[in-house]
Amino acid sequence: MIIRPRRLRRNKAVRAMTCETRLSASMFVYPMFVKEGRGIEEEIPAMPGQRRFSADRLPYAVERVVSAGVNAVLLFGLPEKKDFLGSEAYNDDGVIPKALNELKRHFPELLCITDVCLCEYTDHGHCGCPRGEDGYVDNDATLPLLAKAALSHARAGADIVAPSDMMDGRVEAIRAALDEGGHVDTAVMSYSVKYASAFYGPFREAAGSTPAFGDRRTYQMDPRNRREALREIELDVEEGADIVMVKPGLPYLDILSTVKDISPVPVGAYCVSGEYSMIKAASERGWIDERRVVCEAAFSLARAGADIIITYHAPELAGWLSRGEIEF
Ligand SMILES: [Zn+2]
Repeated sequence: MIIRPRRLRRNKAVRAMTCETRLSASMFVYPMFVKEGRGIEEEIPAMPGQRRFSADRLPYAVERVVSAGVNAVLLFGLPEKKDFLGSEAYNDDGVIPKALNELKRHFPELLCITDVCLCEYTDHGHCGCPRGEDGYVDNDATLPLLAKAALSHARAGADIVAPSDMMDGRVEAIRAALDEGGHVDTAVMSYSVKYASAFYGPFREAAGSTPAFGDRRTYQMDPRNRREALREIELDVEEGADIVMVKPGLPYLDILSTVKDISPVPVGAYCVSGEYSMIKAASERGWIDERRVVCEAAFSLARAGADIIITYHAPELAGWLSRGEIEF
């Protein structure tokens, strides 16, 4: 007898019924850049199709996201003023609290996740405070600032805060500050496994956060390491992370799969700016079919273990899926 796996591939209906991985728009998170000011809606050249919005313009943009079926956004703040300690990151009248006020007023059901870091707010572009003498980012001096930033987001209505700095002990510091401030229901989604990746290139243009000196390799992870990722996950879970994340996505599917095996909490995967822009650039040249490639990439992340997929393609992908425009 010949065993015939092709029986379950012979037509669309049987493939749909027996497919092992399913995607739903409820898994998607759409990252957005919010810029201080009014009436701003500007293109990001390195990320075709993505824009920066001021808080007052944000509801118009989010309307499109929500109507595509995506109900979670991840907000990055771009302040007008930057300084050494990134003080706009924990200003209660800063760009993110303003954005949250707008969004919560227009979309009470929208899940608002905020990126918690200093790099968009510091004049040196690092995710923490560099020491005077050698510029090495001072871990423990950074923790209270991150905690203050998370607390100001929680006060303004953030549902989930997402620390992306990679300082040791920051989940614990943030959890303690939230609890002390009475925000026991604000969840922490930690960028637990964040590699020092060249795939972040277009984001730095979008967020204006390129370090003025040095690089982020003393705090972000070494792309050559795998066991270290497991240690980071264990630590963040112990410190109280409600959700953990792996970033970037596609180049780290092995890490994502291993993290999923050990994590007791939901696992997110961040399909980063470089992944987005590579697909955009190749599809603009007609070299690949954007829809099919984006969909295949999202299925890869889900197959590898992602419960949550953070992607700049979220609204488009949700639309293609719900309208049945992508065939397998
Ligand atoms: Zn940062």
